[in-house]
Amino acid sequence: MVLREHSLAQALEYARAALALATERGVPPSPENFAVWYEYAVGDNPDLKKAVEILESNGKAFTTEVSRELYERFLGLERQDRTLRSASDRLGSTIREVAALVNDAGAGAKTYGRALVDLTGEVQADASPDTLQTTIRRLLIETQSAIQRNTVLEGRLKQSAEQIDQLKQDLDEVRKQASTDPLTGLANRKSFDDRLLGAATEAMETGSEFCLLLCDIDRFKTFNDNHGHQFGDQVLKLVARCLRDGIKGSDLAARYGGEEFAVLLPGCTLQNALAIADRLRETIATRRLVRRSTGEDVGAVTMSVGVARFEEGEPITDLIGRADRALYMAKREGRNRVVSQTALEESV
Ligand code: GH3
Ligand code: MG
Ligand code: MG
Repeated sequence: MVLREHSLAQALEYARAALALATERGVPPSPENFAVWYEYAVGDNPDLKKAVEILESNGKAFTTEVSRELYERFLGLERQDRTLRSASDRLGSTIREVAALVNDAGAGAKTYGRALVDLTGEVQADASPDTLQTTIRRLLIETQSAIQRNTVLEGRLKQSAEQIDQLKQDLDEVRKQASTDPLTGLANRKSFDDRLLGAATEAMETGSEFCLLLCDIDRFKTFNDNHGHQFGDQVLKLVARCLRDGIKGSDLAARYGGEEFAVLLPGCTLQNALAIADRLRETIATRRLVRRSTGEDVGAVTMSVGVARFEEGEPITDLIGRADRALYMAKREGRNRVVSQTALEESV
């Protein structure tokens, strides 16, 4: 982990090694990429090491996307882990602090109680007015200090409650980050898979149906080559927005992979799913893409969509497989189109 503490000399050595490793592999220079190779140079992240080995043995280049995936996989989550750890550390110390305060208050209350007992002992029927006056003065002083202790306690308890509230918000944020794709703000693949599994369980319990759309932007590699990766990223965000705006209720759109998106349509028939898919496809195909910096109109992107309906009792992978084959067919048949799983049955 990058923020692990190393001695300066050691850290410099890792940094030099990281630069050399990244340069050798033609990794685009960015702070995130440097972080990945620093982690690699430190050498105690076996999963990262294995991922790099697999990429290299497959002859994969460390392009911007590959590097981004490495960063998100190995350091993005580390970051969340760290937030989570520091949140639970803080929660632990807040609880200890409150426990100590409550304990003190207990001791304080006992002191006050004892003082009261002592004082009542002094209040005899035949006590002189002077004695009574002294007793009352002492009683006032004891009471005053008990109140003060309580006010301090009250203040500290209020502060602790605020801290706990802040922690809760931090944890909610971490939870949200863990299920969100950072570029598009859509659900990520992990949370989509969870929801998909949930939908399958519900469908089996209640007999309700649901459909899955797998969408893939057409010839996006060429788009990046022609217009640059950064503009490509803007397009991914736009496509994500079109998907999010084009669905409703309990439907869920997610970034399923690089330029692939998935949409879950609970309670939807295959026929309706096809209509929704085609509307989404058309919305995207008719959006003109304009480069903000120059005002240049670069045309549009299109996407192909495969649509499948969940069959009760089948493994989720079968559903995904059908949607994927339908998507592949849409690509083969010319792209910018929607293909239903029924076309697969017809074509065999
Ligand atoms: P096809 O119509 O067959 O889907 O062609 P394609 O070029 O879209 O498909 P291919 O799988 O060959 O390439 C996918 C491209 O998507 C490669 C990569 O440049 C681009 N891509 C993937 N993730 C990202 C990303 O996060 N940002 C950008 N800008 N491009 C990405
Ligand atoms: Mg693809
Ligand atoms: Mg594509």
